[in-house]
Amino acid sequence: MQNFPGVGVSPGRVIGTIRQMPKPISEPPAGEQLPAGTTPEEATAALKAASQAVHDELKARAAHATGDGKAVLEATALMAKDTMLIKGAAKLVARGTSAERAIWESGSSVSEMLHNLGGYMAERATDVLDVRARIVAELRGVPAPGIPASNTPFILVAEDLAPADTATLDPNKVLALVTAGGGPQSHTAIIARSLGLPAVVAAVGVDELPDGTEVYLDGAAGAVTSEPDEPLRAAAEAWAATASLLAEFSGTGATADGHLVPLLANVGGGKDAEAAAKLGAQGVGLFRTEFCFLERDTEPSVEEQALAYKKVFDAFPGKKVVLRTLDAGADKPLPFLTDSTEPNPALGVRGYRTDFTTPGVLDRQLEAIALAEKQSEADVWVMAPMISTAEEAARFASMCADAGIKTPGVMVEVPSAALTAEAILREVGFASLGTNDLTQYAMAADRQLGPLANLNTPWQPAVLRLVGLTVEGSRAEGNNKPVGVCGEAAADPALAVVLTGLGVATLSMTARSLAAVAAVLKTVTLSEAQQLAKLALSAPSATEARAWVREKLPVLEELGL
Ligand code: PEP
Ligand code: MG
Repeated sequence: MQNFPGVGVSPGRVIGTIRQMPKPISEPPAGEQLPAGTTPEEATAALKAASQAVHDELKARAAHATGDGKAVLEATALMAKDTMLIKGAAKLVARGTSAERAIWESGSSVSEMLHNLGGYMAERATDVLDVRARIVAELRGVPAPGIPASNTPFILVAEDLAPADTATLDPNKVLALVTAGGGPQSHTAIIARSLGLPAVVAAVGVDELPDGTEVYLDGAAGAVTSEPDEPLRAAAEAWAATASLLAEFSGTGATADGHLVPLLANVGGGKDAEAAAKLGAQGVGLFRTEFCFLERDTEPSVEEQALAYKKVFDAFPGKKVVLRTLDAGADKPLPFLTDSTEPNPALGVRGYRTDFTTPGVLDRQLEAIALAEKQSEADVWVMAPMISTAEEAARFASMCADAGIKTPGVMVEVPSAALTAEAILREVGFASLGTNDLTQYAMAADRQLGPLANLNTPWQPAVLRLVGLTVEGSRAEGNNKPVGVCGEAAADPALAVVLTGLGVATLSMTARSLAAVAAVLKTVTLSEAQQLAKLALSAPSATEARAWVREKLPVLEELGL
């Protein structure tokens, strides 16, 4: 047996044989010239045809994908036809460089430029390299890099998965994911969670194992072990037996003593919402509206927006749907709203702040929401992302009132909002804690970076204190406003108990996690949850907070969570 410890990002205990991602496409030699008899015009035409073919292939895969996977594939497809990428290559071809070498070099410059911009743009740098390799493969007439084909299910191992690969994983073929690189908020991690695949990231050395090696993987503990022994086999068997229990959610979230904690879904559009409704979600706690328009260069019309919103509302007639206004910027740029040259996008003009620089878009979005609401039966709540002050909250509430929206709220994801929650909640009807950004800003740790994974966890006592302060603010004299959580923290069953103990009223998560969270929540009373919240708050570190709480929740071990 050999251990490859990593960071667990999606629970599940499985045993399977591994398949490594194929070796990447080799670099065309430096200085490679156009073959004799090929004109630059012919080579440029071939290059454009290859870029179009890659675009079309990714786009076609996007058509069969849903939710996050779809958005990722669509964004990568667009990258294949990126003007800067193709023009850069065409210039080199005009000077006699081979088409393969030209796209390779152009890809390097675009990727480097994006990397230097930092934040979300740096994350996209890998996508350009992925697209570049696909274009070279197309030019060479060899298979594109990607998931290996196999008739039998396998555990997929890679250095790190590109978004275009992870997005189309067939959960019937792939048992689990392991990457040697990547962080807990990487595309790989988010997509693994939304597909319900056990996954471990940052397991150094695992990419050296030969194909066919049998490994045991525990996606909760972050463990990968080759040549598993009997106890590990028994653990995987036990998980297989309980996994089916975790696939079903009764539709009511509650503690053992009947304290209700509605469990809601995070969705990015109509299809997600329909899937979430099928999985028993009690409503939608976060509708990321920007996910509907990631591909758009121009602002969608009010009618087009209303149609997209109505699809989500219609999946939850009579139920609560919390819609978030466009959270453009940083990790989710929208060309019609965000400035791609900002030096520090996570601290830039994102979320509600885009109304400072592009006024009108938010008003029109509120108009579209009101229009969709009129035509549906959902109980529609609307919140603004990245609110930092009570003044902003008051202004957003008045914009909502002007549009005829009854329940305005805010996301609490900037530490200043948590610290001034009392004043903010006097202005609006509710708050929802975005623990992904709240953690990144409280810890000053980019949520996309693997090396900062230990800082970037909502188990940090500092983050838990900000959650507690927000709830306190909401309960101040005359306030009494509900506070929910819609960040990834809500999908961690142990943390869900702590959040409940801190006084959070609702939990919203990827729909696949609903059953696991419900199963753990129902094993504790409210007062036990409150004790566990105190315990977590008193811990000196995130690691201890998590370990102390998990120790008191034996059900986690029983269920393999
Ligand atoms: C968050 O920040 O926790 C959140 C829910 O929003 P997003 O992940 O879309 O930034
Ligand atoms: Mg956020």
